[in-house]
Amino acid sequence: MNIIRLVLGDQLNPLHPWFDRIDPGVLYVFMEIRQETDYVLHHAQKILAIFAGMREMACRLRETGHGVHYIAIDDVSNCQSLTGNLETLIAETGAKSFEWQAPDEYRLDYQIDQWFKESGLAGGKTSSAHFLANRFEARNLFAGKKKWRMENFYRHMRRKHGVMLEPDGSPVGGQWNFDAENRKPWRGQPPEPDDRRPYHDHTLLWQTICDSGVQSLGEDASADFRWPLHRDEALDMLEAFIRDALPHFGDYQDAMSASAPRLFHSLLSFALNVKMLNPREVIAAAENAWRIGHAPLAAVEGFIRQILGWREYIRGVYWAHMPGYETANALEHQLPLPDWFWTGKTNMRCLAESIGNSLEYAHAHHIQRLMVIGNFALLAGLDPHALHRWYLGIYIDAFEWVELPNTLGMSQFADGGLLASKPYAASAAYIHRMSDYCRGCTYKRDRRTGPEACPYNALYWDFHLQHADRLSANPRIGMVYRNLAAMDASEIENIRSHAANLRADLDVL
Ligand code: FAD
Repeated sequence: MNIIRLVLGDQLNPLHPWFDRIDPGVLYVFMEIRQETDYVLHHAQKILAIFAGMREMACRLRETGHGVHYIAIDDVSNCQSLTGNLETLIAETGAKSFEWQAPDEYRLDYQIDQWFKESGLAGGKTSSAHFLANRFEARNLFAGKKKWRMENFYRHMRRKHGVMLEPDGSPVGGQWNFDAENRKPWRGQPPEPDDRRPYHDHTLLWQTICDSGVQSLGEDASADFRWPLHRDEALDMLEAFIRDALPHFGDYQDAMSASAPRLFHSLLSFALNVKMLNPREVIAAAENAWRIGHAPLAAVEGFIRQILGWREYIRGVYWAHMPGYETANALEHQLPLPDWFWTGKTNMRCLAESIGNSLEYAHAHHIQRLMVIGNFALLAGLDPHALHRWYLGIYIDAFEWVELPNTLGMSQFADGGLLASKPYAASAAYIHRMSDYCRGCTYKRDRRTGPEACPYNALYWDFHLQHADRLSANPRIGMVYRNLAAMDASEIENIRSHAANLRADLDVL
């Protein structure tokens, strides 16, 4: 072997140009290592899905004639660190060259770059051939600007990649964004589509992972495992989503229901983030569904905006601001996460459902992540870095490049408003409007203070009082401050003291 090529656990793309031809001088290396399982406490299904996907891809590469070296988590020679294993392998094989695909996380990018510089090997880093924008495209587009608005980036991407455009370059339907049409609550109809994801039995693999001492959170669900193992299964999921759910995606994009955790979301983020699917093919499939009249424009535009807009933009924010972004805490929030973040056992039904879904499925959809869990953390003043570690561990699709700006920037306003034009803060009224969670909840959504009042309410007003210096001049939240100005002093005092009591003992809520 002359060349060692590293395949990371989120680089499960069998269509990468590396694999176009079989070269007997190349050895592909995969490793299951404690370095990667232990940097935060991960959901059991996340560890399983990545290891199972790596094993499957290694197996398929071997079957097609590629040279593969697979280091399993329980191999005695596994030294459990990426560079440690590389050094052993290079010594054993005498390889003179090392190649790797650009990692998406700064942590790994830095580690491999440093190691390679000192290794004296030939070779180098190549593109992962996955994203539509390069790492620094957002930074270049927003050079010199204080506010980085996603909408500007999204229009740039639509134009650059010719997505949903008229021949003259204008957006189809006469406008770029149909978000205003995508805010309906769901009242049980149309029914949530059947979950057509595959089933796998990963009990043996799970046993191996546990026997190796890897700690995890959430349900392993290893006997009836629902996340895709390879690209073919991910393509089946894409097809089922386009057929059954996309037509309703727009209408109910922001809706939440205790009886339908998935609603019309695609569940494609895992397959996308580990690169089983390419964003271009997902966008093309959605655009085609509109062109053939299968799905309405607002639904298709809304879905494409998530992938061509948000996903690529978030990555651009990450690379433009790393390292350093991970330390941001503009609002100086410090409280530890309540214990029920790890059990879902809280009397607030919206949080019990959203955290319960996260623990059960390693997934919650965007509005649960943003407007229930993240919103509570923001209003309560939880430490955004502890929250970041929780999000990074619990979700099947969580990799730092996408999780960090979503958590610190979009959800916690910890970057001081670089990413979001205002904090995503809402009281119980929003949660009630968009979900059925408030029905049957112990707390009363229409009370501000008192033992029965929904905690979101006092925390919402108090959050705005606490951060008035920073937020009151923001025209997008002028109404909040006008309402506060209209409240009498005793009401403000009641809000402040109720919020302080809530924050003093979050564990009991
Ligand atoms: P759908 O609703 O079907 O959306 C389609 C696709 O659009 C998703 O698969 C995803 O690739 C993309 N997308 C949608 N919104 C975003 C977004 N804000 N940023 C990036 N891509 C987006 N997404 C992750 O992939 N990994 C994360 O670790 C992650 N952490 C998040 C943390 C917080 C606090 C918040 C508010 C959002 C986070 N998101 C993250 C974004 C979003 O919630 C998930 O992408 C989505 O819920 C995945 O489910 P889905 O595939 O069914 O998405």
